[in-house]
Amino acid sequence: MFRIVILLGFLAPVAAFGQRQTENVILVTLDGVRVQEIFAGMDQAIAEHSATDEYSDIALARERYWRDSAVERREALMPFFWKTLAPQGVVLGNPERGSRVLVRNKIKWSSPGYVEIMTGAAQAEVVDNSERRYAHKTVAEFLVSELNLAKTQVAQFGSWDGFKLAASSTDDAFFMNGAYEAIPPALSTPEMDTLVALRADIQGLWEEGSNDVPTFRLAQHYLARHQPRFLWFGFGQTDDWSHADRYDRLLECLHLTDRFLSELWSTLQSDDFYKGKTTMVITTDHGRGRGAADWQEHDESIPGSGDIWIAVIGPDTPATGEAGPLPTVYQGDVAATIVQLFGLDPGEFNPDAGPPIAAVWGEAEMSDARKKSYKQ
Ligand SMILES: [Zn+2]
Repeated sequence: MFRIVILLGFLAPVAAFGQRQTENVILVTLDGVRVQEIFAGMDQAIAEHSATDEYSDIALARERYWRDSAVERREALMPFFWKTLAPQGVVLGNPERGSRVLVRNKIKWSSPGYVEIMTGAAQAEVVDNSERRYAHKTVAEFLVSELNLAKTQVAQFGSWDGFKLAASSTDDAFFMNGAYEAIPPALSTPEMDTLVALRADIQGLWEEGSNDVPTFRLAQHYLARHQPRFLWFGFGQTDDWSHADRYDRLLECLHLTDRFLSELWSTLQSDDFYKGKTTMVITTDHGRGRGAADWQEHDESIPGSGDIWIAVIGPDTPATGEAGPLPTVYQGDVAATIVQLFGLDPGEFNPDAGPPIAAVWGEAEMSDARKKSYKQ
């Protein structure tokens, strides 16, 4: 009896936060998706600009996605994100609600953004999209070592090799799959081999990226077969269509990506391995220009390129919906958030990383008690 009392006394501060339920995290990134489309749907100024382009079918896009209010427009564009995910989770980054999520790296290109997400901090030597790895340990590598996971239990898929390079400081820390890479025979299935072959034959919009559709299907097969505890999936085509100045195609692409997010979440909720113990984190690598003349591009000279957003849904995240007003959150805070969702110590991951995002636990800011409970 005496021992039980002591034990309960020891556990009490932890119990105050409830039992941590997340055992798996799925990180999904949508390349270069602006806060304007996420929070307000189809943009009137860009639509008018695109209507002058003979290739763009803006009339059809208007029919599908234009509505009178921002709330109706964003729900038409991304129905899963706004009708299911947001009400059950938390969405950060709407400046109209006093919530800002910013990129800390100065470049505001993809590789600097993904390295910031994965390492928890802007890394000064990542100044472009060069095809190389950087020495900084990533959150994915940290999970493999801290949770003593097999290399198949952490996985990265994405339609651009830059995702793979940003995922890890070394080539073989865990399972990674490049834009057009085959799956090793020991891990593959006939369906996965078919998807790899199909992906090789489908032309990407730009030569360095593959199509998101077979890549997403590959990741779904991998998820079902190998049950990774941490998976990063990177969608790339949202950035491709934006650079191509095809607003009509971007909107279709976002709508399709939203359906894939819905499928992914449904799959997780119908699989006993994932159901009720998996958190999904969704974000982007950078923003883009704010107007019709510069929305296509993003870099340090274009205002808006550093404005991003983050959405989280999972068993440890209260149903908050759109959060705000809140202190500014940074891109680099995603890594420590993932670390803490697994009950690990962000300080041990990277003392220079941004802190866990308090709103993910329904808190305005990180309490001292929670800081001490990292190791719950
Ligand atoms: Zn880009």
